[in-house]
Amino acid sequence: MSATDQHDEAHHGALGSRLNWLRAAVLGANDGIVSTAGLVVGVAGATDSRSALLTAGLAGLLAGSMSMAAGEYVSVSTQRDSEKAALAQERRELKDSPEAELAELAGLLADRGLSDDVAREAALQLTERDALRAHASVELGIDPDELTNPWHAAWASFLAFTAGALLPLLAIVLPPAPVRLYVTVGSVLAALALTGWGSARLGSAPAGRAIWRNVGGGAVAMGVTYGAGVLLGAVGV
Ligand SMILES: [Zn+2]
Repeated sequence: MSATDQHDEAHHGALGSRLNWLRAAVLGANDGIVSTAGLVVGVAGATDSRSALLTAGLAGLLAGSMSMAAGEYVSVSTQRDSEKAALAQERRELKDSPEAELAELAGLLADRGLSDDVAREAALQLTERDALRAHASVELGIDPDELTNPWHAAWASFLAFTAGALLPLLAIVLPPAPVRLYVTVGSVLAALALTGWGSARLGSAPAGRAIWRNVGGGAVAMGVTYGAGVLLGAVGV
């Protein structure tokens, strides 16, 4: 592999992980929109009280964003722990049985289509330069310098969910009572069309169906909670 190819590949890797982050942000915002919209529309079905709407919407925003952040923190920490454990084991094996590890690396490279001679030579060179990095990348598929930080992941989810949740919250609280539902439903469905389009584009999937699925999902969520709110409001619970 030439120096230029290597550079290009590093570029693709960085671009790929940036796209993953962006995609996670769009999906997090989408979650914030749908769950908060369902919540405030449901409450609006039962009451006209602006302070009840604000309280419910804000509580939903905080509960949702913190639950997303905590879930992300736990899942990324667990993944990072297992990656660190795998790296530690690899480090031990390299120290205890370097010959077997060299043969293993050559075998993995041969599996990827190199001839035995070339694989052996490549394994030798990689081992000489940075054995742990070579094993981490070829055997485990991880870059020891690029382990995801759980705090970054948690903050990103928190912010993405909050950004999404603010839309239905403001849309239900700010306009005058007679139009607040129309403003909320309209802006939420428009925003869901946008996030559906965005996540489809970022995942290189066709946008049309993704948009309709996303808008449909949001419409169903708001319809169900609104119905429940109207029922509860009518019964006077
Ligand atoms: Zn190994």
